[in-house]
Amino acid sequence: MEKNIKEKDVIIVGAGPAGLSAAIFTQLDGWNTLIIESDWVGGQGAIAYTVANYPGFPPGDGKVLMENMEKQVTLSPPAGVGAELKQEKVINIDTDEMVVTTETNRYKGKAIILATGSKMQNLGIPGERKFIGKGVSYYAVRDSEKFTGKRVLVVGGGNTTAKSALIAKTEASEVILVHRREAMRAYPAMVKRLQKEGVKIRYNIEVKEIKGEDEVEKVVLVNNKTGTEEEMTVNWVVFCVGTRPNTELARKMGLEMMGDFVKVDEQMKTSRKGIFACGDIIPGPRHLINAAADGVLAGMAISEYLALEMVKMGEMFIGAKNGKYADEYLAMLKRD
Ligand SMILES: Cc1cc2nc3c(=O)[nH]c(=O)nc-3n(C[C@H](O)[C@H](O)[C@H](O)COP(=O)(O)OP(=O)(O)OC[C@H]3O[C@@H](n4cnc5c(N)ncnc54)[C@H](O)[C@@H]3O)c2cc1C
Repeated sequence: MEKNIKEKDVIIVGAGPAGLSAAIFTQLDGWNTLIIESDWVGGQGAIAYTVANYPGFPPGDGKVLMENMEKQVTLSPPAGVGAELKQEKVINIDTDEMVVTTETNRYKGKAIILATGSKMQNLGIPGERKFIGKGVSYYAVRDSEKFTGKRVLVVGGGNTTAKSALIAKTEASEVILVHRREAMRAYPAMVKRLQKEGVKIRYNIEVKEIKGEDEVEKVVLVNNKTGTEEEMTVNWVVFCVGTRPNTELARKMGLEMMGDFVKVDEQMKTSRKGIFACGDIIPGPRHLINAAADGVLAGMAISEYLALEMVKMGEMFIGAKNGKYADEYLAMLKRD
């Protein structure tokens, strides 16, 4: 064994709702669990602004929900389950050796969960790249203080777009929302809130180009019904046009894919032994509650997988793993 490699039972990549939920189930079952997170703990949930669809969490800030999940995972018992969390970026996973390499460390796991979530989609129009962070954002939360007194254009039609417009409205002098379809995809209550807060909504409009010297000055808009083009003066553009799964690691590992997503079975097992995936990177609905539920399934499946591996090697354990004693696992193996 390499000298500086740290051994863990379970290594989870990504501390969003999927990864954190998986950690609760593996750590509670007695498996030494490490979660590795490259950015902020809580994933997209931590920047979700008002979350109204998470059962047991009355409409409130997603940051609070995710802070509670983090505490539940990392605090020592009885306040939490006492899993370990490291702030490092995973750059490679060797599926034969089960070694996870970050920018600073190497860890060996008996099972690995990919819960790398998704990131905001870009549009790829002229001018977009040039102004990222200085006139172009993907979601309003992180740049909202830069909107003070400005005219902000928000692009998209979903709940995230609506939230961005509402966040922008707290700082900007004017917020215009444009959507390429005839109606918003967001919940009706969100649309009502936008109207109440004075956000101007325009439908059938697409953004074709962003113009400016050092700062964003104008956008070129096209009406996709009439083909009419216009220039609008704005100081900031916020794109909220969907997300795409973070599957670079999964592809590098050679995991079987289903289109843009990682292919898993009903126990969140991928095509490689001992590697599981859950949350936004697998096919299915992309909500906090679904990510958390996927994480639970992955955590339970890993506990069963590790218990079976132990019993196969002739190592019996005391107590239960995922609700079953060692002799019950032995019977399962004999049945198979
Ligand atoms: C602005 C916004 C608002 C939303 N609002 C709602 C809402 O109100 N209700 C709702 O149900 N859903 C909402 N969603 C969707 C919801 O947040 C996601 O479906 C959910 O967070 C997915 O969970 P996840 O754990 O799969 O991934 P994520 O939350 O994306 O977490 C994945 C984590 O993995 C980390 N990671 C990625 N690659 C690496 C790497 N190489 N090394 C280490 N760490 C890595 C990322 O930094 C991230 O923290 C919203 C999403 C956004 C963006």
